[in-house]
Amino acid sequence: MADLSRRDVFKIAGVGAALGALHMSSTACATKTAGRMLPPAKGNRVVIIGGGWAGMTAAKHLKKELGDKVDVVLIEKRKIFMSCPISNVWLGGLVDMEFLMHDFHTPAAKYGYTFINATVTDIDRDRRRVYTTDGYVDYDYLILAPGIRYNYDAWFKGDKKMAQICATHFPSAFIPGSEHIALKRKVDNFEEGTFILTVPPPPHRCPPAPYERAAMIAHVFKKNEVNGKLIILDPKGQIKPKGEGFGRAYQELYLGLVEYVPNAKIKEVDPVNKVIKTTAGDFKFDDANINPPHQAGDLAWKAGLVNPKTGWCDVNPLTLQSKLDPRVFVAGDASSVKGFPKSGDMAHNHTQKMVVKALVALLKGKDPLEAVQAPTNTCYSMVNGDPKEAIVINVLYDIDRKKKAPVKKKVNVVNDRSTQLARSTFEWAKALYRDMFS
Ligand SMILES: Cc1cc2nc3c(=O)[nH]c(=O)nc-3n(C[C@H](O)[C@H](O)[C@H](O)COP(=O)(O)OP(=O)(O)OC[C@H]3O[C@@H](n4cnc5c(N)ncnc54)[C@H](O)[C@@H]3O)c2cc1C
Repeated sequence: MADLSRRDVFKIAGVGAALGALHMSSTACATKTAGRMLPPAKGNRVVIIGGGWAGMTAAKHLKKELGDKVDVVLIEKRKIFMSCPISNVWLGGLVDMEFLMHDFHTPAAKYGYTFINATVTDIDRDRRRVYTTDGYVDYDYLILAPGIRYNYDAWFKGDKKMAQICATHFPSAFIPGSEHIALKRKVDNFEEGTFILTVPPPPHRCPPAPYERAAMIAHVFKKNEVNGKLIILDPKGQIKPKGEGFGRAYQELYLGLVEYVPNAKIKEVDPVNKVIKTTAGDFKFDDANINPPHQAGDLAWKAGLVNPKTGWCDVNPLTLQSKLDPRVFVAGDASSVKGFPKSGDMAHNHTQKMVVKALVALLKGKDPLEAVQAPTNTCYSMVNGDPKEAIVINVLYDIDRKKKAPVKKKVNVVNDRSTQLARSTFEWAKALYRDMFS
C-alpha cells in the first residue's frame, strides 16, 4: 500500500486535477452589485461561512435539532472537501487520497440545508448581510468558520515577492489542496541531502501535526533508502503534545534519519539561497516544508472580528459568540478559547456541543449558557508506517458554570505506539466523516 504504483500516480494526478478547482472562487470577481441570492427566510436564517470541520458540523446539527424551524445556508468556496486530518498518513503512503475527499451535496440534500458554492467577499454586520461572488444573502445569525491563514508577513515584513517564492517553492500544506500534492511529490522524490520541516509557533492549527508529518516523511525516506536526513526546527523547548511518543518513534524507528532541534525560533528565511536562520543556529537545506505562523482566516479579519494582538477571534468561551458581535459565532480554528487546541476533533466537538446548543437555545428563547455541553478532544498521530502504529491524546473538559468557562478535567496520553491505535485512527476519521458527510 505504501508503494506509489503507476496506478496511484495516475490516481493522484486525477484527483490533482479536481483539486485544481479547490481554491478557486466559483466566479471570477467579487461584487456588491450582484443581487439577492435567496428569497428572505420565513423564520430565522443562520448563514454558515466555511464548509470545513466546524461549518459542516454546524449545518448538519442545526438542522437535526431544529428541522424546518430554521433556514440554514452553508457557503463554501471549495468545489470538493479535502481533509487535513489523515493527510499526513496519506503523505506517508498509507491511504489513498479518496479517503480524504468528500462531497458537500449529500449532507445538504439529506439534512435539508442550502449549500452555496461561492466565495464570501464581504460581511456587512450592521445589515446582517453576507456578500459572495454570486450575490448576497441576509442572516439572523452568522456562524463564521473560515479556518486559518498563513502569516508570512511575520518573516518577510511586506516583501510579497519573497513570501510568494517561499509559499510556492516550499508550500506549507496546513490548508488542504494543491500544497499537499506538491509536498507529497517533494517527499517521494527526495533522494539525498537535508530536508527541513519547521514547526509553526503556537498557537497553530493541530499542535501534533508537524511531528506526525515528520514521522511520516521519515517513514518514506527510510523505505526509499534516502541518503540524508530530516531536520525538525521547533521554536518550542520540547515536542508537545505526546512528546515522549514522538521522541521514542524518532529514536527507535528513524535513528540517524531524524534530527530534532528545540528552541529554534525562526529569525530569517531565505528561500532563494535555501537557508533558515534560527535562535539555535543557521540551517542550509536541499528541500523543505516551511510552515509560517498561523492566524484566523482572512474573512474574520475582513469582518473586523480579529484581535490584532493575537491574530485570533475573541469569543465567549462557552457559546463561542464573538465578543464584538453576539450575532456572530466563530467556530473552529479561527476562534480562541483558553485550553482548546485548534483541531478538527475540537472544531467538531465545540461546534456541536457549544455553538449549536447555544444557538438553538437562543432561537427558542432560552439561556444559551445553560444549554452548552462540555467538549472532548481526541487526537491520534501515526508514527510508524510499517507496521502502522499510532499514539494518542484525549482531553476531557468540564463546564465551570461559576467561571462561565470550560476547564480541563482529565488528560490521557498513550505514548506506547501500537497497531491497535493505528486502527483506532482510521475508525476515528471514518466516524467523523460519516457524521459530517453522510
Ligand atoms: C496536516 C494536518 C493534519 C491534521 N491532523 C488532524 C488530526 O489528526 N486530528 C484533528 O482533529 N485535527 C487535525 N488537523 C487540524 C484540522 O484540520 C483543523 O483543526 C480543522 O480543519 C479546523 O476546522 P475549521 O472548520 O476551523 O477550518 P477548515 O476545516 O479549514 O475549514 C474552513 C473552510 O472555510 C472555507 N472558507 C474560507 N474562506 C472562505 C470564504 N471567503 N468563502 C467561502 N468559504 C471560505 C475554506 O475553503 C474551508 O473549507 C490537522 C491539520 C493539518 C494541517
